[in-house]
Amino acid sequence: MTRDDLPRIPLLINGEFVQSRTTEWRDVINPATQQRLARVPMATPEEVEAAIAAAREAFKTWRKTPIGQRARIFLKYQQLIRDNIKSLAATLTAEQGKTLADAEGDVFRGLEVVEHAAGIGLLQMGERAHNVAGGVDTYTLLQPLGVCAGITPFNFPAMIPLWMFPMAIACGNTFVLKPSEQDPMVTMRLVELALEAGIPKGVLNVVHGGEPVVNALCDHADIKAVSFVGSTRVGTLVHDRATRAGKRVQCMMGAKNHAIVLPDAHKDQTLNALAGAAFGAAGQRCMAVSVAVLVGAARDWLPDLVEKARGLSVGAGDSATTDVGPLISCAARDRVEALIARGVEEGATLALDGRLPPLSGQLKEGNFVGPTIFSGVKPGMTIYDQEIFGPVLCVAEAATLDEAIALINANPNGNGTALFTQSGAAARRFEDEIDVGQVGINVPIPVPVPMFSFTGSRASKLGDLGPYGRQVVLFYTQTKTVTARWFDDASTGGVNTTISLK
Ligand code: NAD
Repeated sequence: MTRDDLPRIPLLINGEFVQSRTTEWRDVINPATQQRLARVPMATPEEVEAAIAAAREAFKTWRKTPIGQRARIFLKYQQLIRDNIKSLAATLTAEQGKTLADAEGDVFRGLEVVEHAAGIGLLQMGERAHNVAGGVDTYTLLQPLGVCAGITPFNFPAMIPLWMFPMAIACGNTFVLKPSEQDPMVTMRLVELALEAGIPKGVLNVVHGGEPVVNALCDHADIKAVSFVGSTRVGTLVHDRATRAGKRVQCMMGAKNHAIVLPDAHKDQTLNALAGAAFGAAGQRCMAVSVAVLVGAARDWLPDLVEKARGLSVGAGDSATTDVGPLISCAARDRVEALIARGVEEGATLALDGRLPPLSGQLKEGNFVGPTIFSGVKPGMTIYDQEIFGPVLCVAEAATLDEAIALINANPNGNGTALFTQSGAAARRFEDEIDVGQVGINVPIPVPVPMFSFTGSRASKLGDLGPYGRQVVLFYTQTKTVTARWFDDASTGGVNTTISLK
């Protein structure tokens, strides 16, 4: 198939899927085989402008649409996603690489947010205090902001778009989504289903592209809020740019997630959890465990951990026997391999080397790195200081729980962390003293379910409110506080020149 024969991914503007008029396209590639799947446009400035204008126009009526009517769209949407989950997962695996079971999990964790959006009637309620002064009542309205924008990363192309547009739209906003240009196909299928569920024209729009499109969204006066998920470098740029333009901004960014293992932990469960959380999705999860801190006698568990990791099968995500799929791109593989070489140069011990896993046929072309484990890792080494975003687990050691907590608190990132133990007292001390926004107790990847919010912290996040859950309702709405007095007779207390309400 020549490039010209490949499917061209459309934009969505004002309810119509339209072909971009751009001259700049990039290929969407199956990372297990390098097979080209589709072409994605880098939208022109006029197309970005048209998407924003459609969203601005649609807001005029969507903001007045009754809350029950908005909620029912998401009731239908969740059913459509559920009915299509297998084919959504297959598309996701083809363009992103993760295993089919994990791709289904990616869709499912987004589906949970859609289910929650269907409960918007309860979530968007204001507060009311009766008779705060004589005959005076005070109450709040949570009103939609206007046009909101979402910029999403490659690693969860179903879940993360679904963190954003369903809740923004359920709150009465309209939306412009900019998916990752590396794997936009499953996102577009989810957008098609959203229209099928009844999202009116102009309420959801999609533009594709890279830096120029993102900058245009950050700068545009008609966009009131920007949600971003991606790397710390880009998130910081987006935050600074969009904040300067006067918008609300929330950026969920990079990570270095540590798991502490105490010697009283259940050994087999702990090692299974560590291997799954370090190497699942080829380590390309913002909540992947990338550092294991073995405390005291748990230091002796390293050989068993290495054996667990060695037993994982590397291959294409659409094979039922695969545990670890490819990295997203050749550039990502080269970067991870270079970091592994750097780890060796800087004195860490390469306990398991996953470079050049033995694969045959077309998979030889894929971006594969197998499970890799370094021991003796310390702050100051590049493999510790940087987010590797690959199937590489750094193992560090600590004499006590307090020493391990101090190590984590000294790391700038604050996305996720976990403790493995059977001691309630240790767990309680850990949850109290650890300075990380999402804490797992014997749970390696503690991503909260949608009745809570995603609560990464410190260098992993910019902006105050997290995605989904109650926090995002506050992010996507303006709280308006009304103080009202209704006179029930003609009596007057005269002119009041003080600040007091009487
Ligand atoms: P990325 O930052 O490269 O890309 C994210 C988005 O920004 C994409 O839509 C991309 O097109 C756009 N972009 C890229 N370069 C840009 C630039 N110079 N200016 C403006 N926009 C630009 O991230 P990625 O590689 O797609 O995703 C992986 C990263 O995302 C990892 O660091 C991971 O930890 C992070 N992540 C964080 C969370 C979280 O919740 N904290 C969740 C998922 C992923």
